[in-house]
Formats: sequence, structure tokens, C-alpha cells
Amino acid sequence: MRVHSYFLLWAITLAACKSSLTTSVEPITYKGLEDDIVALSADSMLGRAPFTIGESRAVTYIEKRMKEIGLEPAFGNTYFQDVPMVSIITHLPTRVDIKINNGNLPLKVDEDICLWSPTTQPTVDINNAPLLFLGFGINAPEYRWNDFNGVDVKGKVIVVLVNDPGYYLLDSSLFTGYAMTYYGRWRYKFEEAERQGALGCIIVHEDGPAGYPWAVAGSKSNSPILYIDSKALDNPACLLNGWITHQAAVNLFAQCGYDYEQLKKKATTRDFKPITLNAAVSVNMRNGIERSVSKNVAGFIKGEEKPEEFIVYTAHWDHLGVGRSLNGDSIYNGASDNAAAVAWMLNIASAFKKAPAQPKRSVVFLSPTAEESGLFGSEFFVKNCPFNISKALACLNYDVVLFLGKFKDVTVTGYGHSNLDSLLRVVAQRHDRYIALDPNPENGMFYRSDQLPFLKAGVPAIFAKGYTHQAELGKEKTLEQIKNYWQNVYHKPCDEYDPKRDRLDGLVDDAVLFYEVGNILVNTGFVPKWNSRSEFIR
Ligand SMILES: [Zn+2]
Repeated sequence: MRVHSYFLLWAITLAACKSSLTTSVEPITYKGLEDDIVALSADSMLGRAPFTIGESRAVTYIEKRMKEIGLEPAFGNTYFQDVPMVSIITHLPTRVDIKINNGNLPLKVDEDICLWSPTTQPTVDINNAPLLFLGFGINAPEYRWNDFNGVDVKGKVIVVLVNDPGYYLLDSSLFTGYAMTYYGRWRYKFEEAERQGALGCIIVHEDGPAGYPWAVAGSKSNSPILYIDSKALDNPACLLNGWITHQAAVNLFAQCGYDYEQLKKKATTRDFKPITLNAAVSVNMRNGIERSVSKNVAGFIKGEEKPEEFIVYTAHWDHLGVGRSLNGDSIYNGASDNAAAVAWMLNIASAFKKAPAQPKRSVVFLSPTAEESGLFGSEFFVKNCPFNISKALACLNYDVVLFLGKFKDVTVTGYGHSNLDSLLRVVAQRHDRYIALDPNPENGMFYRSDQLPFLKAGVPAIFAKGYTHQAELGKEKTLEQIKNYWQNVYHKPCDEYDPKRDRLDGLVDDAVLFYEVGNILVNTGFVPKWNSRSEFIR
């Protein structure tokens, strides 16, 4: 088999050049990583929010470091790429009426339903648009699943379930079972509705399969939502996006003569047929529009033999800025999210630059903007790439770092998509670390950081780190620390770096590990390949 012979070839090459891949990589040091974290998470960076003075300070710092390291600017004569964005607030009435057989079903905005209009048109009026229950709203040829098969959704608002059929049946022969696929993400549902030409798409929210409560999903009405500013927003087919609560959906379906839970069960089978609900929605929306520009920062090292082929390291620079005060602190420093990852990337860049030989393929170092608001920087980079994106071998992304010291594991988020997992395993084993799986694959974390736009462009990616098994704490106590992190530190002002409390040994190890993985990718015959069951296969 092709894949195996490539793998063998690579294993032999790796053995042959082992001496050049020593375990200590000289320029990657505790101090080097710490200096960058301290600088990027300082209060003076004001939490690095896009469009603020914090942005200009952060991107200027990264530019200065890229120059010092000796990277070439990725965008002609500059390290900066302007990312035009538009913020749209959809103003809604307090109530949305759904016309049903024998009257009206009023839904309270925010409490029962949350809607917005993803367009720069100043006003959008939806008049009596019929509602169609379309199961999961998924078209997945590799899983032989198409909820849109033979249905005309034009002019209709589709109502769909969150997540994918595998989750509900816990059946790994359907999609990937409990683990979420990209088809389960809200982002996918709205994208597919647009591709299919539906007038609107409303997702039924449920805590378990969504992975977050209604407070998160339902907070988007009457609040600004960011988009990449493009012509596509002038006149999309899909003019209405939104969520409806589980309770409101149960009620709506009942009023139309259907049992929601029964239809949900049917939707997990291959013979499910979409149901016209005998209900229609009318809503008038007004869009407030504001345009701004933020910046991606990127530099690269040109490959000596095949410069057009490249790998890309990614670590977003943005965070949440200055916000609501918690315990007297209003600066969201984002030390672990994601100053530490930018430090990781810069120090890997320095290792490549100081290596005795120039890499055979090119190595790109990208720090995207607006990850926190929807992966916009990386999406814009992929769609407006200064390199030929079809020649990208792999994306190595890093995000959310625990400052706990050394780890025995390398936890892989999105395990099973490509043979990059095997490469990572071999390199991890050389450092006496083992591959662990994401403890919460149902959260779809693989689709929630900057590797996603690369995956969608057909570029295999690694999203991994020391995470679930701190060397001295053991697994159980590490899981407690993880829980504590997500509850008390993540996206809070106390995500700060404290040199007395925090340990960066694990970050040093991860930087060395990813340097070696990248080194193999650019210097040997290893060819990244999709696994046949990945939804991103090309
Ligand atoms: Zn992050």
C-alpha cells in the first residue's frame, strides 16, 4: 500500500538523520519562552484585543521578534496582512411570531429564540417563510449521509439538530460516535444552509450535544458578531441564522402535530425524510454595520530544495482585551491563551533559523488575529495565502497551554484524521512521552482553533500538547487541574503568568517536540496523508 511504503521510507530516512535530530534543541530555552510570555501577557498589552492599542503593541512586538530571529516577511516587504472585518449587530423585536395552523406561537427573543442576519444589507424582512425540519442538516458524502437529498430548501427556513447522528446513537459506525465531527458544529450547519440556498437555518439547542448551555448559544441577538468583510456578505442566500431552545422546539413541534423527540430519533436513521412543519416565520431585522481592519503577522524561512512546499506553525496573538472586572482586575492578559503559544512558535522559528542547514522545504510562522471571535485571521490567511495553499503539507497549531511543568503525555485533539498522528507518536516516544486522546472529544475542540481553516482547505493538521498527565501529579490530579483551569482561569483576567507559581518545562518540551516534527516534515520524505474516514479528505 502507498501509505505504508511512504511510511517505511520516512522511517528509514529518520533513522539515517537521527544525529541531526538531537533531543535538546539549543535555542529553545526556558528563559527564551518566558521572556516572550512575560512581554505578550503584560498589562501594557491590554489583553491584546483586535482593533485596539493592545493589538498594535502585540503585533509590533511579534514583528520585532520575527526580524530579530531573521525570518523573511511573508507578505512581500511586510510581516503584516490586513484582515478586513465587519461587525454586524442585528436588531430584533422582543418577540418573534411563528404562524402555525390555528394561530400564532410567540417566541421571546433571548429566552426562547436567538436570531441574527449574516449580511451587510441594512434591513432584512422575512415574510411567512415556511419551516422545514431537516434532521441534522448534514451533507457528508464520505459517511453516505445527505439530509438535503431531493429537497428544495430555497425560500425555506430549515430547523436542524445540533451535533451529528453518531453522538445521539453512541454508534461509532455512524460518523465517529460520541466524538464530534465538523458536521456537528454550528458553523458547519450555517455554511451548508448557505451552500444549499436555504433562506434561513435555526439550530435546536440542547446542552449535551451542543457542549455549552443556552446562555452561550443564545447570546447573539442584538449583539455584535464579527465576519471577514467580503462581497459574499452583500447578498447571501441564507439571511437568517439562529438557535431555538429545546423547550421552545418541543412546543413548536407539538403545535404542528409532531413529537420532537420521536422526529429526532427518526433523524438518526438513513431513511429519514424532511418534515414540513406547517409553520412559518416572519421577522423584520435591522443591521448595524461597522468596519475595521486587524492584522495577521507572519514570517517564513525559504526552503532550499522545494521552496514552494511548506509547513505552517500557527499561534493566534489575540485575546479578549479589557472587559468586565473580576476580583478587581479587568485586563484579560491571556498568558496561557495564547501568549505562551506565540512564544512556542517564535522559539521554534529561532531553532529552525539557527539549525546548521537551511530546511529543504519552507517553514511559515503565522500568528493570526481574531481567533477568539471566530478563527477569522487564519481563515483570511488561507483564502488570501501569499503561498500556494495546495502546496502546504501540514499545519501545526498550538493553543491554550497549562503552566504545570513536565508532561508524560502528548494529548492529540482530533486524533485519527491523518498519518501525522503516527509521526507525532514516533517523535513523542523518543522523548519518553506517549500519545493520549482528547478527554472530551464530544466538545469538538479540533474545530475550534486555527487549524480549522487549513483542514477545510485540505491541509492536514496537528493540534496537540502536554495536557492530561503531568509527570509528578499523575493523571487523576492533572485532570483536576484541567477542570480548575477551564472553570477558573480560561478567558478570565487571572489567566496571567506568575514566574513563582508557574512552570514552563512542559512548554519547553512541547516546543522541542514540535520543532522535531516540523524538521522531519520539511527535511525527509514523509508525506502527510488523510485517513479515509476524515471529513477533510481530499
Ligand atoms: Zn486560544
